[in-house]
Amino acid sequence: MLIDFIINFCILFTFAILTYIPFQNRLNIYIPSSKYNPFILGILSGLTGCLLMLTSINISDFVIMDGRMAVIALSGVLGGPFATIISGTIIGLFRLFMYGYSTSSLIAGSSTIIVGLVIGILSLKKTMTFQNVPYFFGYSIVHTSLIIGFLGNWTFETWMAVISFILYSIVSFSIIFIVLNQLSNLFEKIRHIEEMSVTDHLTGLNNNRKFQEYVQNLLEKNKVFSLLILDIDYFKKVNDTYGHPVGDEVLKELALRIKDASNPYGGIVSRNGGEEFSVLLPNTSEENSLESADLIRQAIEKNVFQISSGEKLDITISGGISTFPQDAVTTHELYKLADEALYLAKTSGRNKVVHINQSN
Ligand code: GH3
Ligand code: MG
Ligand code: MG
Repeated sequence: MLIDFIINFCILFTFAILTYIPFQNRLNIYIPSSKYNPFILGILSGLTGCLLMLTSINISDFVIMDGRMAVIALSGVLGGPFATIISGTIIGLFRLFMYGYSTSSLIAGSSTIIVGLVIGILSLKKTMTFQNVPYFFGYSIVHTSLIIGFLGNWTFETWMAVISFILYSIVSFSIIFIVLNQLSNLFEKIRHIEEMSVTDHLTGLNNNRKFQEYVQNLLEKNKVFSLLILDIDYFKKVNDTYGHPVGDEVLKELALRIKDASNPYGGIVSRNGGEEFSVLLPNTSEENSLESADLIRQAIEKNVFQISSGEKLDITISGGISTFPQDAVTTHELYKLADEALYLAKTSGRNKVVHINQSN
């Protein structure tokens, strides 16, 4: 009997891991549009439940025990209410007919369908998560225990069956629950670290690494785009006069303004380092890039920057632009040319934007 428990648990565990990982989008396994997830999960869970019943543990002539309830509960966490209803129905129907029709199979089968339905309806109101799934699972255990007891007239044997069922359910579900919870936390940490590795900590903009990735994508698309590099005018003076923390405040506010002003053009804004920012302007030719860049420049110039001490600062920026593919076809060259154009903007008076072609 112990070996039967182990076999049943192994199937349940394999199901939990194999469905959890792809449905958490951690692997690049293709899953059709997420709106089909409940159906796919419901069917997968239903089939697993059938497999569990085929390897179930015979407690008495009329009671078979397996991890089907855990499968229904887990399908709800990953696929939502419809997944539990579908899996409950598949498992219930299979239970009805697997050993031929009988009163006990009718009661056990319809009870499984009801559990799937009840959990599905309850989770319409309260979305199932790893935090609350023990309650839903607990309900399915109580429900099933009462059915087992009822079928066996609460004899001593029946009580033993109920106790074994509860113990098996709690132990198997707890192990799976702990493992999946740990995986969840781990994936959350990875997600967070991935995000941090491409985000500038001060402004929340893309950092230089993400910027490189975006340029590479644009280069691969082989469509016209422009690169605008922006640099604050006389920023050192802000730091020297008001201190570094105020300089940081200005950088944060500037980031917000550049982002808002670039939005209408689908501009991708990054902080490439220090007080240097960039805006990638997809599908933007030389002529349009100068117009957009000048509006971004104006968005900084036209309103004063209010710092936490209450003082108001006049901040301006200068910009340099290069355009793909007319000026260059590599990230390095495009950046170099935009930087040269920025230098021209600085040396010819600041608070202006220059396209590298204007220098010729
Ligand atoms: P220009 O108009 O020629 O660009 O003059 P500038 O003073 O802005 O140029 P410069 O390159 O001489 O100075 C840039 C300053 O930016 C120097 C540095 O202290 C400051 N800076 C760079 N990164 C940060 C940062 O993260 N926080 C703050 N507060 N200051 C920074
Ligand atoms: Mg600078
Ligand atoms: Mg500067």
